[in-house]
Amino acid sequence: MNPPFTVLIVDDEKHNRNLLTELLKVDYRLIVAKNGEQALQRAREHRPDLILLDVLMPEMDGYAVIRALKHDDDTRDIPVIFVTALDSVEDEEKGLDLGAVDYISKPFHPPIVRVRVRNHLQSVQQRRLLEQLALLDSLTGIPNRRRFNQVFEQEWRRCLRTGSPLSLIVVDVDNFKAFNDNFGHAAGDEVLRRIAMSLQKSLRRPADLVCRYGGEEFVILLPGIAMDGAKALAEASRFEIEEQYVDGETSAAPTHVTVSMGGITRVPNQTTPDLALFSEADASLYEAKRLGRNRIVWADAAPGKSPFSQQTHA
Ligand SMILES: [Mg+2]
Repeated sequence: MNPPFTVLIVDDEKHNRNLLTELLKVDYRLIVAKNGEQALQRAREHRPDLILLDVLMPEMDGYAVIRALKHDDDTRDIPVIFVTALDSVEDEEKGLDLGAVDYISKPFHPPIVRVRVRNHLQSVQQRRLLEQLALLDSLTGIPNRRRFNQVFEQEWRRCLRTGSPLSLIVVDVDNFKAFNDNFGHAAGDEVLRRIAMSLQKSLRRPADLVCRYGGEEFVILLPGIAMDGAKALAEASRFEIEEQYVDGETSAAPTHVTVSMGGITRVPNQTTPDLALFSEADASLYEAKRLGRNRIVWADAAPGKSPFSQQTHA
């Protein structure tokens, strides 16, 4: 079963709040606000899945509330249903123009309120499912590049706020083309799946992320740990992959598969995520390949102060 949805009920009249609460409390987790200010505050704090918003309220009316909600990145995508005694086509049009998904008129007709709320929450659920699928790599089942870019931006900003380091590791399967040529693409796909699994297993904290960035390239993002910790984690997963044997499709002999990695650790110092991190990690990866593969090269701690520091693995 899905976790219960959270619905925020906003109405200045106690009677209406109670009515809606009675109607919906069995099926949903409810949060209640009695004015516009409170509504915005609770929407930001609880991120409800749906908002039932009264139009006529003193001080800040429903139109002002929805404008503010749509203005804020954190609340913009929460669907809003206007609830109102107003009964004119113009008001309805205005509400829908401002981004409301629906309109419920007072006095309430309970079955209709229930059905409309349920329908909108069903589309919320469908949309989330599609979003999730669109953010996963279909071959390996781990996050894809699109997802990575989203998380990279979020974590960049978080580390900027907290002054914490952010590490980026580019992982590339060694001699993958030769492996595919020798053993076939099905075996190659299996290698990618196994490596994806190994990399994912090596991550320890919820904020750590690995994605398939494309082809035989993976990227790991480690926010909030020092460079030494990031290096140790990279080394552990490099080692684990080296230890695995992968059976080739056309060969009885087990074949070693190894990866090379290029890493970089920086403390963000600008608002815009610095994409140079990728090119610097890539340059380190290139260096790891050049030095003989199956190794990790980390970009120097101070930007602009090349060359690389190579991590040894005896
Ligand atoms: Mg009212």
